[in-house]
Amino acid sequence: RPEPSLPLQARALRVSYGGFIALDGVDLDVPAGRVSAVVGPNGAGKSTLFHCLAGTLRPSRGAVRLYGRDVTRVPAHARTRLGVARTFQQLAVFPSLTVAENVRVGAEQGRIADPGAAVERALRLLGLDGPARSLPAAGLPTGTLRRVELARALAGSPRVLLLDEPAAGLDTYEVAALTRVLRALADDGTALLVVEHDLDLVAGLADVVHVMAAGRIVTSGPPAEVLRALGPTDPRDPLDPAA
Ligand code: ADP
Ligand code: MG
Repeated sequence: RPEPSLPLQARALRVSYGGFIALDGVDLDVPAGRVSAVVGPNGAGKSTLFHCLAGTLRPSRGAVRLYGRDVTRVPAHARTRLGVARTFQQLAVFPSLTVAENVRVGAEQGRIADPGAAVERALRLLGLDGPARSLPAAGLPTGTLRRVELARALAGSPRVLLLDEPAAGLDTYEVAALTRVLRALADDGTALLVVEHDLDLVAGLADVVHVMAAGRIVTSGPPAEVLRALGPTDPRDPLDPAA
């Protein structure tokens, strides 16, 4: 049933690609002020779920609700205006724009009155307010580009922030810095959903972890319980039996 106080809610989502069922009845609540994480082996359906929540994929059955409102058929750009921001697993910055100009794009897609101030706030939060702000995005290292992407998402002042593998390509120091920023956003009331392979990030950041396998959420709970239950892991790709 619709829950007006709940930022994001998925109910009975089903996605099939041809005959293959990629999501098989997924229910998910993404509450405000919390970091929710979705983990699971390659092919589990994490990105498919992410696309349904962001609006880049329409499920064949089920519903996505934003503060109780059915947005299942609302396209991604319109969800952005309603306060849902996202980052991309494959980085998607504009190479010929500077760091600050990229962040400005996010402010203009969002739901804010003063884009200039929002850009400055986002640049500061991600440590991009120094000389880096004027550099063209082309050629910047992955760690910096991930910060640009996150700053761009934040510049629109989202109520819901969806992150697909935000730690991909980051070193330990950068992961720690990212963890602090995301924690602060959640403490500020933002609803965060992180799809992530890096279980160290998930263990140190998430309030609740959802484990996916074969298109379903099979376990949900606090990271200490859920990640322990997953058992001994391969350090290269802890959830992937094929790694
Ligand atoms: P994950 O992100 O957990 O690795 P995905 O959501 O990307 O999983 O994929 C779930 C399953 O759906 C996989 O078996 C994948 O091969 C399949 N799949 C994903 N996208 C498509 C597509 N566009 N067409 C056909 N099959 C797809
Ligand atoms: Mg994926």
